[in-house]
Amino acid sequence: MQTYKLTIKGTVQGVGFRPFIYTLAKRYNLNGTVSNGSNGVEIFINSSKEILEQFIETIQNELPSLAYINSLDIEEIAFQNFQDFKIIETKNRGDITVNIPPDISICKECEAELFDPNNRRYLHPFITCTNCGVRYSIIYDLPYDRVNTSMKKFQMCKACEAEYNNPLNRRYHAQPIGCWDCGTQLSLQNSVGIALVAIHNNIVQLILDGNILAIKGVGGYHLVCDATNKDAVQKLRDRKQRPTKPFAVMVRDIEMAHEIALINAKEEQLLSSKERPIVLLKSKDNHKGLSLQVAPNISRIGVFLPYTPLHLLILKKLNRPLVATSANITDEPICTDTKSIKKLSTIYDYLLDHNRDIVNGCDDSVVMVVKEQTIFIRRARGYTPISIKLPFKLDKKVLAVGANQKSTVAIGFDDQVILSPHIGDLDGIESVEYFKENIENLKRIYRFEPEIVVHDRHPNYESTKYAKSLNLPQKEIQHHYAHILAVMAEKQITQKVLGVAFDGTGYGDDGKLWGGEFIICDYQGYKRVAHLKYFKLLGGAKAIKEPKRVALSLLFDAFGEEALKLANPTTKAFRQKELKTQYLMWQKGLNAPLSSSVGRLFDAVASLTGICQVMSFEGESGMRMEEYYNDSIREYYPFIIEKKEINILPIIREIVKEDDRYIVISKFFNTVVEIIYIIYKKYNLQMILSGGVFQNRVLLQLILDKIPTATISNKIPPNDGGIALGQVVSTLFIKKD
Ligand code: ZN
Ligand code: ZN
Ligand code: FE
Repeated sequence: MQTYKLTIKGTVQGVGFRPFIYTLAKRYNLNGTVSNGSNGVEIFINSSKEILEQFIETIQNELPSLAYINSLDIEEIAFQNFQDFKIIETKNRGDITVNIPPDISICKECEAELFDPNNRRYLHPFITCTNCGVRYSIIYDLPYDRVNTSMKKFQMCKACEAEYNNPLNRRYHAQPIGCWDCGTQLSLQNSVGIALVAIHNNIVQLILDGNILAIKGVGGYHLVCDATNKDAVQKLRDRKQRPTKPFAVMVRDIEMAHEIALINAKEEQLLSSKERPIVLLKSKDNHKGLSLQVAPNISRIGVFLPYTPLHLLILKKLNRPLVATSANITDEPICTDTKSIKKLSTIYDYLLDHNRDIVNGCDDSVVMVVKEQTIFIRRARGYTPISIKLPFKLDKKVLAVGANQKSTVAIGFDDQVILSPHIGDLDGIESVEYFKENIENLKRIYRFEPEIVVHDRHPNYESTKYAKSLNLPQKEIQHHYAHILAVMAEKQITQKVLGVAFDGTGYGDDGKLWGGEFIICDYQGYKRVAHLKYFKLLGGAKAIKEPKRVALSLLFDAFGEEALKLANPTTKAFRQKELKTQYLMWQKGLNAPLSSSVGRLFDAVASLTGICQVMSFEGESGMRMEEYYNDSIREYYPFIIEKKEINILPIIREIVKEDDRYIVISKFFNTVVEIIYIIYKKYNLQMILSGGVFQNRVLLQLILDKIPTATISNKIPPNDGGIALGQVVSTLFIKKD
């Protein structure tokens, strides 16, 4: 009999790990202790070597569902005579390396209890246990104990306390537990703040009556309404000033999801997963069973299943799909407290609130499946703050501040990167504050003090300005290089690659707006080997929202002054006088920055085909173009690649000759694939795809069909939400001084 010390690191706190070890120790008749340290879980145990091996094997085999082991160290120490096996209280912390579990959906056992009239938590909207519920969103600090969460203000009742203290109970040390007698409480009020009685029956009736409700969830509030009620959905659009951007829909269960959408096995698995992301699906028969207002002009809908007991109670009773969209003011972050949601009192009719504070805001995650691969559109609830393991160890503690749109931030230490949830676009003061708050949250929870900060090369990004204001060594990194590095890090790729970075915009080394880039790179650096030939963005920033301006500019490039005589959807979108002014601006290059962006090229084609002249939300043109792809059309347009420049004007000259949208758009998609294929063949390196353009389902599918080895990220979004990870790994080869 010897004494061993086991140190287990990974996601091992707040997931029922200590009771699991306790139960195992009893099974093997072993004496000792288990405790949470700041370095992970520590086990001291008296055992023979043979039994210890079996014990460890069982740990690996029977791990609790939310636990994940990164490392397990065994050390033989001086003999200690333990008389029994005990769970002992948390010790003081040093460096934090334990992972915080994310917020996950209600488990099967809690769901069964929720609807069991004999259970003391029957219909309790906050039922939870060690295997489910909120985590990250309620944590102030580690270790994960109730006093370090927003549950600290709730005094447990006797019954809950007994469960909490019983190692053999499913609620042993489940920090957020409560019941009808204690814990979190719902409250309902109308839009002028008058309190009403909150029971889920009348909440459901309010929804059925066509009202808009703000409901507090896990990482923020949702605005919800009946998804089958045209007037209610339109009212939400009008009040939110969101004319066409699709809304996500929450459905009762997987059966109801099947009623409204076509779902393959992989998509079903994601919908039902404990992370419960919004999954973008093909809707059935032109939004059968939903109001058309939910996603106008687009045949894809974002669907998700209830992930809290409160959502479950509402959806079961409602028994129809519910629009559930993040509650925020345009360009501001998701509302996370009563003060911020009250700013939206002109949008909602009723507010269903509760008194458990959201410490770390977290939006819903959004994913899609393309050729069996999970593609993140937004990585947030359920997935953050799970760490991403790097192929190397970092020399320094790195803070990466990301880009400016779809912002996320990251911290890196050892061989781990913690990526914040989706923060949003850094366009307003509130968003920038929320961005800083996210950095402070990560620093506090992980006791992290950065030794270097990495930012984008763009001098005017809010994130860049913030980084430059810090009293820290700084590194700037080109946007598209960061895009590719992020995928290399996620996939643990260490050799040279061909990176294809297609997006809306990123600041280039020559000060121009890049976005159609082919680069050969490794962790040391990169070389730009091809890009779209520059074109002018007429009106500068205006061109980003108005595809017609980009299209017109390309028409001027292709036809010169003759373009003024053309009659096509683009020229018709301008008055004659405007056309002449634009021509002069183009000629003189006034307020017309140069760009090589593929995102803008997509916009131009959407305009030339009359699909979209002015966008009401980002990415609209590409999303609507997906609707016109016909896979029986195999041709593509001519283009010229010379001296690293891809000349797209032959494409434009051909497009204006064709009236059929389906033909133009199909040939255009094929052309983009052909351009990639030709350059891929030339270099014959592993090819990595990144940038928001690859969120286009049709494009991605076509590329993966043609080049099955093409690599795209599956844990981080291809859009700017992944930039911070690339920024962290750009420091891999900075030597310690
Ligand atoms: Zn549970
Ligand atoms: Zn209680
Ligand atoms: Fe980008």
